[in-house]
Amino acid sequence: MIMPLGLFFGAITSVNQALGALGRIQEILDLPDESANDRDLAPLALMVGEANAGVMPDAPAIALDEVHFAYASTRSDPADPDNDSPDEHLPEPDVTDRQPVLRGVSFEVPRGQRVALVGPSGAGKSTILALIERFYDPSVGTVRMGGLDLRSLDRAELRAQIGYVEQDAPVLAGTLRENLLLGSPEATDEECEHVLRSVNLGAVLDRDPAGLSAAVGDDGIMLSGGERQRLAIARALLAAPPILLLDESTSSLDGVNERMMREAIDQVSAGRTLIVIAHRLSTVIDSDRIVVLDDGRVIGEGTHAELVASVPLYRELAEHQLLV
Ligand code: ADP
Ligand code: MG
Repeated sequence: MIMPLGLFFGAITSVNQALGALGRIQEILDLPDESANDRDLAPLALMVGEANAGVMPDAPAIALDEVHFAYASTRSDPADPDNDSPDEHLPEPDVTDRQPVLRGVSFEVPRGQRVALVGPSGAGKSTILALIERFYDPSVGTVRMGGLDLRSLDRAELRAQIGYVEQDAPVLAGTLRENLLLGSPEATDEECEHVLRSVNLGAVLDRDPAGLSAAVGDDGIMLSGGERQRLAIARALLAAPPILLLDESTSSLDGVNERMMREAIDQVSAGRTLIVIAHRLSTVIDSDRIVVLDDGRVIGEGTHAELVASVPLYRELAEHQLLV
């Protein structure tokens, strides 16, 4: 094909108009449908949200299709991938010194479901969340939200759809309120209190008479690891994102926190799509679907019972936590 791309698409459009055979032509040429080129983001909220699931009824909330990815050779600060805007001015990396991190990852997250990503450290789980947030683009393959290639979406609008709670999310010096308002400065005290209680942090709120104005951290209310992460979840939830990405903290695996965390996750998963990098089997077992990753590949997908029966690595992980 030597025609410039624009001409080519133009030609197809007129053929389509003449023949009225868009469906078949798309099928044959594997063209994106019209909505995939639509840069108007207003409909996106509707598509991903519950109310208007009719717009693209079959499109999953998130879908990865044969995604390959390698970080540029110099490791940037993983705690803040936005810091150096890697996707904006990545130096053209020397292919030879790039280690593949994802090697053909495909899976789907249906709307409203909770999907857990599990697998050994370094398998690529956090990298997948970074691609869904579009901190980076895949080197090969596609990440879609509501059927739309992320690359066709405006980054700010994309992130407005997605709440992201990183592993061991930091608590800032300052008050509870200040910590909550970071992503949604307009939220009212009432909303702040409501969201704290929804993630089981009511007790923290009641721990100091100053309430939302109480300082947290060294100078104020001391938070456990589990409480810190639930505060980070509360912060993300204030923006009411239809999709929540949660890199579960490993820092607080004691029984009390585990139960609180499970309850918090149950609360926040109602009515939204949740992708959790899970370390606790309780989180895994309650998921609609589990994707097992190892060394940048999906090596199994299914329910807990299915995976225990069929995927040795998963069975080992489960046995390690004494649940089999
Ligand atoms: P997991 O979350 O499953 O533990 P990650 O996605 O964090 O795995 O990491 C997968 C691989 O990518 C690891 O080998 C890790 O060292 C590497 N990696 C992660 N982040 C970066 C980065 N910012 N730059 C370079 N390599 C990275
Ligand atoms: Mg990780």
